[in-house]
Amino acid sequence: MDLAAIIRNVPDFPKPGIQFKDITTVLLQPSAMREIVQGWAARYADYRLDAIVGVEARGFIFGAALAYEMNLPFVPARKKGKLPAETVSESFALEYGTDTVEMHVDALKTGQRVIIVDDLLATGGTVEAVARLVRRLGAEPVEAAFVVELPPLGGRAKLAGLPVHALVEFMVE
Ligand code: AMP
Repeated sequence: MDLAAIIRNVPDFPKPGIQFKDITTVLLQPSAMREIVQGWAARYADYRLDAIVGVEARGFIFGAALAYEMNLPFVPARKKGKLPAETVSESFALEYGTDTVEMHVDALKTGQRVIIVDDLLATGGTVEAVARLVRRLGAEPVEAAFVVELPPLGGRAKLAGLPVHALVEFMVE
């Protein structure tokens, strides 16, 4: 499967200069989804995982599919103000300003081993904040899994200490 060819590049979205990697074209191909999810499930079969954490919003699609495939709990990491029960929050820097991610305090337990899933690794700020949430709940992020990595944006270095697994790389900023 040529995943790089299936992912649609949309230039100048959401603003000039950004090469947006659109994974909705992957969602249209069940065989591609199956290969991604089954590949991850095989990779993580012996990791003794307790849960899959998915990052809002596109990380929910891939993360929930992986959790289902592996028969594991799925934990959503959501944008601020979306989760109804008691939460923990972590903020991270954006180009302008900050953003905040939250998880329910009872979503993970001490010592649990999790994979964090998102569609794309850019600067790493989002998943770095989600990893902090996981650790604050006493759980251990053992790897972060992405469909796409944009290596020039340096996310791998930002996630230092957390292994990164990505299926396709694009050398764009
Ligand atoms: P970052 O925190 O910089 O690693 O950004 C990651 C988040 O932003 C992911 O949830 C992506 O969905 C989204 N994102 C950032 N850059 C792009 C891009 N060029 N194309 C598609 N999504 C992107």
